[in-house]
Amino acid sequence: MKQYDDLKATHLYCNNCGGSMPVRERLLLILPDGYLFEYYCAHCSELVGDKKTRLADKDRILLR
Ligand SMILES: [Zn+2]
Repeated sequence: MKQYDDLKATHLYCNNCGGSMPVRERLLLILPDGYLFEYYCAHCSELVGDKKTRLADKDRILLR
């Protein structure tokens, strides 16, 4: 049985579906100090959350 090791199966509460649903991650913005992600319900595509992630040092080089 294969486990979902590297799938990053994130679940967030969706008002439309009325429960915790799997989400799709979308990169919204690349900021000077990190990334801004938005999460959409995989079932109804409602926006259910966002997340800001610190920029990794190796990625900082790419942005110059
Ligand atoms: Zn939904």
